[in-house]
This record gives sequence, C-alpha cells and structure tokens, in this order.
Amino acid sequence: MEKNPTEKLVIPHPELSEEEEPPSQSTYIDEASLLDEYLKSRIDRDKTLISERSLAFMQTYFPEATIKDWNNWHWQIRNSARSIEQLARFIRLSDNEVKPFETKSQSLPLRISPYYISLLDQDNPEQALRKSVVPVFDEFLVHDGENSDPLSEEHDSPVPNIVHRYPDRVLFLVTGFCSTYCRYCTRTRMVAKDKCHIGIKSWEAGLNYIEQHPEVRDVLVSGGDPLTMPDLHVEYLLSRLRSIPHVEIIRIGTKVPAVLPQRITRPLVNMLKKYHPLYMSIHFTHADEITPEVKEACEKLANAGIPLGSQTVLLKNVNDEVEVMKKLMHELLKIRVRPYYLYQCDPVVGSGHFRTTIEKGLEIIRGLRGHTSGYAVPTYVVDAPGGGGKIPLLPEYFVGREDGYALLKNYEDKIFRYPDFTQ
Ligand code: SF4
Repeated sequence: MEKNPTEKLVIPHPELSEEEEPPSQSTYIDEASLLDEYLKSRIDRDKTLISERSLAFMQTYFPEATIKDWNNWHWQIRNSARSIEQLARFIRLSDNEVKPFETKSQSLPLRISPYYISLLDQDNPEQALRKSVVPVFDEFLVHDGENSDPLSEEHDSPVPNIVHRYPDRVLFLVTGFCSTYCRYCTRTRMVAKDKCHIGIKSWEAGLNYIEQHPEVRDVLVSGGDPLTMPDLHVEYLLSRLRSIPHVEIIRIGTKVPAVLPQRITRPLVNMLKKYHPLYMSIHFTHADEITPEVKEACEKLANAGIPLGSQTVLLKNVNDEVEVMKKLMHELLKIRVRPYYLYQCDPVVGSGHFRTTIEKGLEIIRGLRGHTSGYAVPTYVVDAPGGGGKIPLLPEYFVGREDGYALLKNYEDKIFRYPDFTQ
C-alpha cells in the first residue's frame, strides 16, 4: 500500500513501547498533574515581579492598592506625582527643590511614576535618580548658548512630527507624553504641556512623507515616549510603517522600561515582535535604575528578538564619574542591553546645572576603553547645536608619525609604533 505523503510519523514513547512492560504506577505520567504543573509555571512566568523596596513603598503610601494594581501600568500613570503637594507626600523636599513650585512658571511639567518614586531616596536631594527627575530652582537659570530647540529639530522638519536630518532615516515624534519627565529633556518644548498623546490623525502627514521618500530606510519612533501609548496605537503605527516597502528597520526610542517596567506586558511584546526588524534604544541614567522589574522587562523584550541598546546622557553629579558609568554599563550588559550612545548634555534652556565639560566625557571614555569589555563602551557623541547631527568624540589615541610609523597610545598611555606604510 502506498504511503500517504502527508501522514505524520508517530514515534512511540519509549515508556509505551510494545516490547516493554507498561510503566509502573510510580512512573506513570499523570496528565492532570502535568497540566497543573504546566499551568502553574505559566502563571509564575506571567506574574510580574515587585521588588521588596517597591512593595514596602506601596504598602506605606498606597495601602488600598493591590500588587495587581501596582503592576498595572495604567494605575501607575493615574497615580503619578504631578504636583509639589503630591511629591511632598513621598520625599522630604529640600529648599532648592521647593522653590520651582513657588515661582509657578515651570517650563517642564513634573510627572514621576509611583514605581520610580519608590526608587528615590526620601532624605537625600543629592541622590542621582532624584536629581534627574525632581525639579530644582537651577532650572530657571538660563546660560549662554542655551536654546529651547538646541538641535534645531524644527528647522529640519519638512512636515509636522518628522525630523529629516540624515539622508536615509527620519525621526518620527509621535507623542509629547512621558510617564516620567527627565529634568534635562532636549524636547522640553514638545513635552512641556504634559498633554496626552497627539493622536493618530496627526501622524498622517508624517506617514505620507515617509511613503513618498524612498530613501528613508530607517524610522526612529520617538517623542515623548511612544511606549506610553496604548497597544492599539503602537500597533497601528508599526503596521503602517511596516507596510511601506522601503522602510527596512524601525527603531523605538523609549525610557519606559526604566521608569515604568510594568508597561512591558506580554501582549505588548507579542505585538511588537510581529514587526521585525525592530530595534529599541532605551534611555538609562544610573545603575540604581536596574531593578528586578527592569531586568524582567528587558528580558521579555530581548526574548522577543528585539535588539536593545542604551542611550545615556552625561549629567553632572549624577553619572559623571568613571566608576559610576562603568557600573551602569556593566549592569546594562547583564540585562542584555548593549551600551550604545553616551550623549553630551544638550544645551536646552535651564540645563546648565547638568552639563559637564567635553573633557569630562572624554575622561570617562578613556576610563572605560581597554579597562573593561568593548561591549561596555558606548560611543560618546555631541549632538551639534543648530542641527549638525551627532559628532563622535574619542580621546586622542593617534599621537603622530615617525619614520613612516604611526604612533599610537594604548589604554595605559603607553606609545606603540605601527608600520603604517605600503611596501
Ligand atoms: S523620556 Fe525622553 S522625551 Fe521623555 S522627558 Fe525623558 S528625555 Fe524627554
């Protein structure tokens, strides 16, 4: 008899082989308990973590909330601190932190998720994370060279929400909303109103622009923070972009995995992975952000095949020491995020107290390169004011020439001669 080619081969389980005795009761597979085990493992896998620190914070300040509430990102957004009164419930504000609220003319709104507040030191205004999100009076000091649009993004914007600066890629600003506002934000001009998302209809001009420009092979979706939008909106956007044949890769720029890890749900990740090749650049500031919750969020994304890179802004008295930066880079690699860019702080209005010198950035790169894994060394860039784009900076390793040899300095400042001539 001819075999049906579509018929599947059934390989008997060794325990059920006809030549052997049936399995004894003790080794018999109890399907009901197997299913039970399987379901339990699914539940454990799907259960979002809450660290001890956040749990203690939740029980103190949100005694009515359940862990389910806490792990719901909508709950986190609804319960974010948005005013001095709300913030003062959780941390003891210093004089410098209270003053911005007395002036009533703050340019960047305050918003911090309860999860991120739980990471703040209640008594220490010098703590790195606290400095990056709690307003201080220094924000009102304007320094030479500062600008509300320091990178001239509006100048390079052919249609609303699109910045087309480099030949083959565009930046698509799809929302002005973030779950937590960084006090040094380059896009203060855009996120300033803490309004909700700008809406699907307002993307149409941008999508049409990308469709009509076949040279655009790479779209960076940013804002604001695109992952603060509902899944349906994110999916609508990704599916529209994916339907444009010349768009080869899509990147998402976000700080959500660091400030609102509860947002990285399984449905979100399952949706995102339909739109590969998809990359994600995650904004991290300090190693104290790498909590069990953040690790879990990044693992979910990485397991969905999304390559993760980090973006970090170099900030005075926050992360401007070699050891502090090295620790952050090491922690990122441990959660499968590859350090990508270290940015010199842009001269946005009111950011003077955050800016370091460029020498400081070079000192940090010098302290990383050769002293730790190459994977842990980000590219240090200055985004040129006025719209010149990213300019990478490296310490001086090429120190000159001698008799046809290039003189090169290694990480220990020793000079080596490379025979740099053709035979
Ligand atoms: S997450 Fe990005 S866009 Fe939002 S406030 Fe921070 S720097 Fe600005």
